[in-house]
Amino acid sequence: AAVSAGAMMKETIRVYARVKPLGRRQRAGIYSVDDDEKSVSSLEIIVPRDLADGFVNNKRESYKFKFQKIFDQEAKQDVVFDSIAKPVAECALAGYNGTIFAYGQTGSGKTFTITGGAERYSDRGIIPRTLSYIFHQLQKDSSKVYTTHVSYLEIYNECGYDLLDPRHEASRLEDLPKVTIMEDPDQIIHLKNLSLQQATNEEEALNLLFLGDTNRMIAETPMNQASTRSHCIFTIHISSKEPGSATIRHSKLHLVDLAGSERVAKTGVGGHLLTEAKYINLSLHYLEQVIIALAEKNRSHIPYRNSMMTSVLRDSLGGNCMTTMIATLSLDKRNIDESISTCRFAQRVALIKNEAVLNEEIDPRLMIAQLKKEIQELKDELALVTGKQKTAELSQEELLRLNELIERFLEDNDPESILDVGPDMRKIKYCFIHVKQLMNHSKISEKNLLSQHVSEEKDKQGIQAGKEELRKLKELLQQRDNEINILVNMLKKEKKKAQDALFQLHAVSGGSKVLEQSLSRNLEESRSPSSCVNLKEAKDFSFSVRRLPFLSRQTGGEMSLGCQEAFEVFKRDHADSITVEDNKQLLRQRFAEAKSLGEKVNELRNKINHLKGEITQRHIQKAALAVAGASEELNKLDPIEEKLRAQIEEEKKSYKTMFNRLKGLKVEIEHLQLLMEKAKVKLQKDFEVWWSEEATKLQQEKPDLVNTSNTAAVYPQFIKSSQRLSTNSSLETRRISHNEESTGNKSSITFSYPTSKSRTLPSSSSSVPLTGDSQIDADILAFIKARGNILQKKGKSLQ
Ligand code: ADP
Ligand code: MG
Repeated sequence: AAVSAGAMMKETIRVYARVKPLGRRQRAGIYSVDDDEKSVSSLEIIVPRDLADGFVNNKRESYKFKFQKIFDQEAKQDVVFDSIAKPVAECALAGYNGTIFAYGQTGSGKTFTITGGAERYSDRGIIPRTLSYIFHQLQKDSSKVYTTHVSYLEIYNECGYDLLDPRHEASRLEDLPKVTIMEDPDQIIHLKNLSLQQATNEEEALNLLFLGDTNRMIAETPMNQASTRSHCIFTIHISSKEPGSATIRHSKLHLVDLAGSERVAKTGVGGHLLTEAKYINLSLHYLEQVIIALAEKNRSHIPYRNSMMTSVLRDSLGGNCMTTMIATLSLDKRNIDESISTCRFAQRVALIKNEAVLNEEIDPRLMIAQLKKEIQELKDELALVTGKQKTAELSQEELLRLNELIERFLEDNDPESILDVGPDMRKIKYCFIHVKQLMNHSKISEKNLLSQHVSEEKDKQGIQAGKEELRKLKELLQQRDNEINILVNMLKKEKKKAQDALFQLHAVSGGSKVLEQSLSRNLEESRSPSSCVNLKEAKDFSFSVRRLPFLSRQTGGEMSLGCQEAFEVFKRDHADSITVEDNKQLLRQRFAEAKSLGEKVNELRNKINHLKGEITQRHIQKAALAVAGASEELNKLDPIEEKLRAQIEEEKKSYKTMFNRLKGLKVEIEHLQLLMEKAKVKLQKDFEVWWSEEATKLQQEKPDLVNTSNTAAVYPQFIKSSQRLSTNSSLETRRISHNEESTGNKSSITFSYPTSKSRTLPSSSSSVPLTGDSQIDADILAFIKARGNILQKKGKSLQ
């Protein structure tokens, strides 16, 4: 439960479970969900009899776990978003940090939950829904000025990669900019080289998400299995400020798709605890260690530094953050041990307490301006009280006059006598100093001193009583002066920090204008005018392309005929192409809807204009009548005009609803288009993988085709379109000459342009598979035809 104390929220990490639909049978027997209690639900996992023996050493039959809420198989994405992500998004909007992370074995639905399914619009996950929600809220709130950025980080093998770098056409993970961690003296983590892309609306943010997802997909090779072994962190950065106010609020919302939590089963002595088995992913092991440490009382050292992921998520784990975990479960018989592990992990996470504080800071420039204003006001007030404007120093005459007064006062033996210098702090101060000097110099006798002391006390009292207010004002002035000094120092330091960061940036990236998070953080914090310019520049530089480059690329074209034909067959049988067709259908439908809506909107606008015209007409008529003498006509309420106005209001209302629906439709259409593009890229990539596999197989099965000493050379080569463009002519000639050769000399069927060789690893979106040798392509094709059903099978296994 949350304890809200002013600007702090103390709360344990909220832990939810989501059970993936299993389809077909499987349902009964393995688990049950108990939703009776209001605030918590419990999940019972029942170990089937036949598994219980060899499974765990204590042979329990069932395990019970508590969750904030359990989303069973039927739960839809909108429901999951409403109860899990919406509250966190609201906190982020209010200035608190938030994190939602999905944890579970591969295939349990982490990506589905965080990003969404690749097929249907309704399957979109937490990230697109959160973006949509946040931008809608921002639009509604005109009381503040908001700035939003997104970043997308992938961590694979302890290396961070920036998925949003628009300058790269990544074909491998290693092509993406490497992100490294830097810790500043205040132990705050900065991510160097992770770009923060500004997104001013939902559409821009979605484009960035898809850019990142596509990079993630393309960079994945069967070898690295990135989606299983890497962590992806999509972060929405929000800052807000009320106009005229000096306080800025910053918040970060991390949406995290963790690596698969599956462990290597320990094949030790029979009955060994499976939960002790090691994680495949070492950083999840460190995550678990951090969580164990956090759950222990009185533990001062938390081993965040052991892995990049725990460093990045440091605040989200026991720090300044509203954190939520979703345990994704694929609860069938085979996965029972993994599911239990996931639930156990979740129970530990549920013990962690976080303290989310409002991330507010003060813009020193604005603060100084405000304080200066306040000082001026105080000075004016002072002048008003004393009745005259003060100069800094007392004049010589004034000083002489004061000395006289003091002397007279000291000599006066009347106990009632007072030293009245008027309501002027400078004079009062001078008097005290002067008296002090007189005392120190022992110019007056002991006796005199005593009497003087007494009268001084009285004097003090008198002055204090009369000038209390004045003194307070003076003190306030002093205080403000100090504050200004401090702030000026802060500003200087801030400036220096920014300069240092800039210097480092130049030093590290060789002067290239990479938008570094550390830099932008500093800059954002200081909000100096130059920083705004820098941010903007960087943005323009790094993300001016609205449509992502891969979306406009053409497929085919340069494929050899055999290869092309194979691609057609592959496409036909590929499971995803069915989805593409479905989506195409849907898209057509949505387009038609949008078109007719657009027409209706236009119609309504015309109608409104027409009605307005009628009103004007009536005004003219009335004016004419008035001129003709019936002047009372002008003042009379015109029932017809009233009716027309009401009608306009009506039409305006429906215009507005139609317009909003059209806007919604636009977002959906965009999303569908992006989904389709993604499916296309994936199809091509799958084809390439399959094609090269087939080529390898073919080569192994028909070794006579090639010279064995040169086998490596006949692997299909993937050439980037850009490279092909630049080296086009020479490639063409090479290809031709080489075809001629190949009939006679089989040892040289290689087709690989030397300069491009090092960079011609699979780069799916832009590349086309090409053995470059029609003979080989034809052979492969013949081979495909002979084995007719391969594709069919392949298509199924891809589902
Ligand atoms: P993970 O990211 O944990 O490895 P995925 O999210 O990729 O798992 O899910 C594996 C498969 O199961 C995907 O095809 C996905 O679409 C499907 N899936 C997962 N969760 C659901 C769900 N709640 N409803 C429908 N399909 C789901
Ligand atoms: Mg996944």
